Amino acid sequence: MREMNCDLAVVACGAGGTAACAQAAQMGLKVIGIEKGKKTGGAANGGMGPLGINTDVQKRDLNSISVEDAFRMFMDYTHWRVDANLVKKYFRKSSETIRWLEDMGVEFYKAARYFPGSEATWHIVMPENRKPGPGCAGTMIKIMTQYAQEHGAQFLLQTSAQHLLMEDGRVCGVTCVDKDGEEIVIHAKAVIISTGGFGGNKEQVLERTGYTYNKDFFGFCIANMQGDGIRMAREAGAAKTEESMELVVSPGGALKESVRAAFHQPNLLVNYQGERFFNEEFFENSTFAANACNLQQGRCGIMVIDDAIRDLYENEGVDVSSYVLNRTDAKGFTEDFEKALASNPYVAKADTLEELAQKMGIDVRTFVQTVETYNHYCDSRDEQFGKRPDYLKPIRKAPFYACKFFPGAYGTLGGIKINHKTEVINEEFRPIPGLYAAGTDTCTIYGDSYMFKLPGNSMGYSVNTGRMAAESAASYIRE
Ligand SMILES: Cc1cc2nc3c(=O)[nH]c(=O)nc-3n(C[C@H](O)[C@H](O)[C@H](O)COP(=O)(O)OP(=O)(O)OC[C@H]3O[C@@H](n4cnc5c(N)ncnc54)[C@H](O)[C@@H]3O)c2cc1C
Repeated sequence: MREMNCDLAVVACGAGGTAACAQAAQMGLKVIGIEKGKKTGGAANGGMGPLGINTDVQKRDLNSISVEDAFRMFMDYTHWRVDANLVKKYFRKSSETIRWLEDMGVEFYKAARYFPGSEATWHIVMPENRKPGPGCAGTMIKIMTQYAQEHGAQFLLQTSAQHLLMEDGRVCGVTCVDKDGEEIVIHAKAVIISTGGFGGNKEQVLERTGYTYNKDFFGFCIANMQGDGIRMAREAGAAKTEESMELVVSPGGALKESVRAAFHQPNLLVNYQGERFFNEEFFENSTFAANACNLQQGRCGIMVIDDAIRDLYENEGVDVSSYVLNRTDAKGFTEDFEKALASNPYVAKADTLEELAQKMGIDVRTFVQTVETYNHYCDSRDEQFGKRPDYLKPIRKAPFYACKFFPGAYGTLGGIKINHKTEVINEEFRPIPGLYAAGTDTCTIYGDSYMFKLPGNSMGYSVNTGRMAAESAASYIRE
């Protein structure tokens, strides 16, 4: 057993924890960051960047949105079922955080929209290879980690935090186990928790949110996210929050990018009954599409395209492109789809609509009628849901292709109740002295659905609450 001493122990070094370490070290605290993984970053290493509102990057591109407008939009969206003070503080801080990151050497490629109907709040990080794409936020994490180290922070990698130490009702440290099984007892004046939720724990996901991985749910399952921080905080008396998934729509099984690019489009979407249930023009808002699929039998929506759409997407370009797929066409679809047919039970191809419906388990008669009606809408207007006309593409030319979509998620949301100072609070709303929390372990600010209209929100929330937690902990330690 080893013992260590510090001012602040940060339990987990993903987006929130690494920001907390950098902020606390900058303020002169002696910081120890504890991280289960081989490197810092957590889920953020797979992402592209955080939210920023009213930033210099946005102003440079004439794409700015004010904090007031964003806040109003957000509170309208969430019906004020969320901590308004926390949201306001986070939004206000977000532009200063982008500058803080730039000052330490992070470069932002641009402030982007996730989809055309969203705001340009997603601050995409310029990676070392100068090719922004999935995972480029890893560069931001690396720079924050180096910055924290240069300011004296120490990172214990491949080390798992186990339990909080308590004395007279105050949190005064944390116990950990390193990769060789040695116990480390860290004595600290304050502790911040930011362990990224419980999305890697399939049993907890089923028990707490009702989703079954690889059956009716196809989310990212990152092994390290086992709900450790939530458990530790609860052991210390933290109150519970609602727990949910940060839903996005996801195809069943793994698919090549060309196939995903062809199906993540505003085309005919039906359920097993063969009925339309969604205005597919909103499919670009992944959360809205996931919500609508969630309500269907098997939580499943089936996207259908014909060979004319395939040809258009493969050879000329898709209707909606996104930075996540980083492509504007579906080149390679024909070959990639044939391979998918051999290994992925969630896709099908057929020469007739009846055969396609049978292969996908859709009610044949209703489906054929739905396609007929939909094709009529394509020639006139969508009388059912009012879909914008340029997205109305008929399903007429064989062969026909289909892909099943389900809810997926970037991770879980919520677990530990905090106040707007990021202090962890108990059921009586009283802060547990010395305990702070940040990131998705605490995130209940979206209400019932992830807020994609202000993209970069989850990494933005984590980085900003990480910094806020470090500032609150520093005041507490100094007092
Ligand atoms: C593929 C992908 C792409 C994404 N892209 C974006 C994006 O572009 N923009 C955006 O806003 N959001 C994005 N997100 C979501 C965003 O990355 C997360 O919301 C954010 O990283 C959460 O920060 P966090 O600090 O709460 O947790 P994480 O960043 O996930 O970090 C949690 C850390 O806790 C560690 N840990 C867990 N238990 C312990 C323990 N007991 N002891 C020590 N360490 C422990 C884990 O190893 C991990 O490093 C993406 C997510 C994924 C999966």
